[in-house]
Amino acid sequence: MVVDFLAKYYENIEKYPVLSQVEPGYLSKRFPSSAPQDEEPMEAILDDVHQHIFPGLTHWQSPNFFAYYQTNTSTAAILGEMLCAGFNVAGFNWVSSPAATELESLVMDWLGKMLDLPRPFLPFGNGGGVIEGNTSEAITCTLTAARDRVLRKLGHNSIAKLVVYGSDQTNCSFQKAARVVGIDPRNFRALKTTRSTLFGLSPDSLEKAICLDINAGLIPLYLCATVGTTSCAAVDPLEPLCKVASKFSMWIHVDAAYTGASCICPEYRKFINGVEFADSFSFNAHKWLLTPLDCCCLWVKDPNALVNSLSTDPEYLKNEATESKQVIDYADWQLSLSRRFRALKLWLVLRSHGVQNLRSHIRNHCRLAKLFEELVEEDPQFEVVFPINFALVCFRIRPSGVAGMSNGHVDNEQGEAWKLNEVNRLNAQLLYAINASGRVFMSHTTVGGVYVLRFAVGRRL
Ligand code: PLP
Repeated sequence: MVVDFLAKYYENIEKYPVLSQVEPGYLSKRFPSSAPQDEEPMEAILDDVHQHIFPGLTHWQSPNFFAYYQTNTSTAAILGEMLCAGFNVAGFNWVSSPAATELESLVMDWLGKMLDLPRPFLPFGNGGGVIEGNTSEAITCTLTAARDRVLRKLGHNSIAKLVVYGSDQTNCSFQKAARVVGIDPRNFRALKTTRSTLFGLSPDSLEKAICLDINAGLIPLYLCATVGTTSCAAVDPLEPLCKVASKFSMWIHVDAAYTGASCICPEYRKFINGVEFADSFSFNAHKWLLTPLDCCCLWVKDPNALVNSLSTDPEYLKNEATESKQVIDYADWQLSLSRRFRALKLWLVLRSHGVQNLRSHIRNHCRLAKLFEELVEEDPQFEVVFPINFALVCFRIRPSGVAGMSNGHVDNEQGEAWKLNEVNRLNAQLLYAINASGRVFMSHTTVGGVYVLRFAVGRRL
C-alpha cells in the first residue's frame, strides 16, 4: 500500500503547490493531542497522510523545486532504504553485522575510484572512506581528529590557542563544528572573500591571517576549503590553499557537499584538483547523486587519526574480530555508536544506474542550468550574477532594470548604498511573489551585499 501510495505521489507531484502554504501549528489543530490507545488500520493512517501531512509538505522532489541545493532520490535508493529499514541492523562494529561494514568499504572504494580520488585516500593507499550522516558530522569528526593530533603533542591546555580557518562563504556547519569541539569562538576565522576572486578564498589572505595568529601566540589547526559554496557555488582554489596550510602542518578538509557528485564526470574533476594535498574530503551523495538523506561520503588519508579520537573500548563491545585488527569498526570513525546500513542505498544506486547514467544525470542538470542562464540573459531586465560552474544559477533584476535607477539619484557612496538596497528590496519582493504562487520554489542569498535569487537545477529527470 505504501509503495502504491508513493508511486501515485510521484505521478502527481507537480500538481501540488511546491512550497507548503500552511500556517505554523497547523497540524496540532488537526490531530489528537495524545497517541491512540488501540491500533489503527493502515488505510486510515495513509488517509491522514494524504489529508493532513500532504498540505504541510514542501515537495523537494517536485520538478518545480529549485531552492537551496537539490536533495534528489531515485527508485533504487528508496528500495535500498527499505532494505536498510527492514534489516534494521545497528552495524557499529564489524561483528555486529559484517555485511554492513564490508559493503560500506566496498561502496566507498567504488565511489572513490569514480571520483578519481588520489590513492592515499583509498584502502590500497592506507586511507579509507566512511558514510557519515551529513557534512556537519564529517567536519566535526575530522576537526576532532585534527584537534587531538595537536593536543597530544602540546597538552590539553593548548586548546584555547587553536585556530580554524574558512571563508565568509564556508557553510555554517563549520562554525557549529568548531564550537562543538571546543575551539574558542574568538579563534574562528571566516576570511573575507570578494568578487575579484569570485568569492573563493584567497591563499594570500589565508597566509596573512595565519601569520598574524602565529605572531599573537596562537596555533593554526584546520582549514576548511569548499568546492561549491552554499550561497553561490564558489570554488576555493585547493592547490594554492593547501600549499599555504601545509607549511603550517594544518589539517586540510575539502568540503564538496554539493559539487562532489559532479566529479564522477571527467570534465568536472578539475574542480577538486589539489585534493591530493588535503587530509580529508567529503561530499553529500544525498544532494546530487540520486540517494536520499542521509549519506555523506567522507574519505581520510589517515583513518587512525579518526580512530585515535573517536574510539571507545567498553567491555560489552569486546570481540575477537576487533582484537584481530583485521576489520574496520566504523563506530570509531563517527560520533554515534549505532549506525544505519546506509551503504545499501548507495550500492543500489551505483548498480542500478551505472556510472554512465549517473554522469548523464549530472550533465543534464548542468545543461539545463545553462539553458536557464541563456533565458535569463535574453531578458534585458535580468542578469546572471556569477559564472555558472555547476547547476546553480544566481540571478537578479539588474539595477538598470529597476525604474528610476538608471537616471541616477545621488552619485556618492550614500546614493550607491541606497540604490543597492532598493534593487535588493525589489528582488526580494520578486522572489516572495514567485514562491507565493506555489508554482515554483526558489531560495535566495546575499553575496557581497548583493541579493540574488538562487535557481538550483537538480530534480530527477
Ligand atoms: N557544506 C556545504 C558546501 C553545503 O552546501 C552544505 C549544505 O547545503 C553543508 C556543508 C551542510 O551539509 P549537511 O546538512 O550535510 O551537514
